[in-house]
Amino acid sequence: MDPSYLIKPLLDETYPVIDYGKGVYLFDMDGNDYLDGSSGAITANIGHGTKEIIQAAAQQAEKVSFVYRSQFTSEAAEKLALKLAELAKGELNWSFFVNSGSEATETAMKIAIQYWQEQGVFTKTKILSRWISYHGITLGALSMSGHKGRRARFMPLLEDCPVLPPPYCYRCPYDEIEGSCQYSCAHELDLLIKRIGPEHIAAFIAEPIVGAAGAALTPPKDYYKIIKEICKKHGVLFIADEVMTGFGRTGKMFAAEHWDAAPDIVALGKGMGAGYTAIAAALVSDSVMEPILKGSKSIMSGHTLSANPQSCAVSLAVLDYLEKNDLVKQAEKKGIYLINLLRKLQISFPFIGDIRGKGLMIGLEFVQDPTKKTVFPREMLFTQRLISTAQKNGLLLYPAGAGEDGIHGDAIIIAPPLTITEPEMDDLGKRLEKTFQMMITDSS
Ligand code: PLP
Repeated sequence: MDPSYLIKPLLDETYPVIDYGKGVYLFDMDGNDYLDGSSGAITANIGHGTKEIIQAAAQQAEKVSFVYRSQFTSEAAEKLALKLAELAKGELNWSFFVNSGSEATETAMKIAIQYWQEQGVFTKTKILSRWISYHGITLGALSMSGHKGRRARFMPLLEDCPVLPPPYCYRCPYDEIEGSCQYSCAHELDLLIKRIGPEHIAAFIAEPIVGAAGAALTPPKDYYKIIKEICKKHGVLFIADEVMTGFGRTGKMFAAEHWDAAPDIVALGKGMGAGYTAIAAALVSDSVMEPILKGSKSIMSGHTLSANPQSCAVSLAVLDYLEKNDLVKQAEKKGIYLINLLRKLQISFPFIGDIRGKGLMIGLEFVQDPTKKTVFPREMLFTQRLISTAQKNGLLLYPAGAGEDGIHGDAIIIAPPLTITEPEMDDLGKRLEKTFQMMITDSS
């Protein structure tokens, strides 16, 4: 397939050319198979080549694929909004559809600011976030992201979104330990809001479980209770970025449910189309919509393809498939199976420093010395080598940030499609074990 004019992530790399996918496996044009241990970028949540989704897409395409949202609504878009209102707990009853996770978080950001403006408050424009977070690549979404590597080149263009430390229990910046945790990282939000002044702050955004930037950083039990109380006390909205965690990935339809976090706005993406289409959304609560409905009656955002019937029909079919196959509940059980398997590997490979996450969103953090938790020297490129060795062994893994600053550490996310079976998880374990073994042999 030469010459290639496709702009790829690394222009001097050659990438296998994919032929087709079936279930949890992908097959390239040379006949190699890959177990999709990361669902791509934690996206192909129901596996590849699912007939029901393909049929739903074809049926919708036969009727109509696109209508412009300022001229028409559609049965598929209306049904999807209704279904999401049913599935989301509390008063998250309104959906604004977009096409990517970055658009979803940026829309959430804009809705939060508009919410205050509709009530005559024009100073509340800042969004608070967390150091070690990723909310997307567009400039608004990137402004909210603490992902140093992805921000670096565009720093002069980014908005100021003050950050607090994430709940990183493996490397707690406050040296607190599980069981006697004082939740200093959550209480820091109170200080941050006071320092900046609540009159300037529209919302606080957080991934319920930190994904790309932190390899499944999972907060302890009362974290979001404290966060919610602080937000409420200061009149700050809480946005949950569920782009990676939403749609069943962690064993609940939305990960915020694990902590009863009751967000005011939720950003969704990835699993919403499960890789079969580009669709994402901001779910908005009744209370946030109320002043907008009484005021300007319009949300100042939107994209040409927002709420297109084709993507909405696919997302509805994905939801239907999740429900019919009970995949959300299964994600919890399968997650336990996979974590047990990984814990066994940890005995033979002590460079696995930490195993964390919920359901089928599992983070592994790697360390040179498990007692001291020292990171590998950067020039070793541990994660990069691990990912490419795994791919050569037919296993796809997702690289993630780690370490005190979120970049000088090594970590991956393991997040296979929720459809994975026990024998397939065993296969994943075998391919991973072979990869770990090769990492040791190669560096000795
Ligand atoms: N938010 C989170 C939590 C993500 O993980 C991502 C992507 O990895 C995004 C937002 C951005 O989504 P997209 O890449 O679809 O723009």
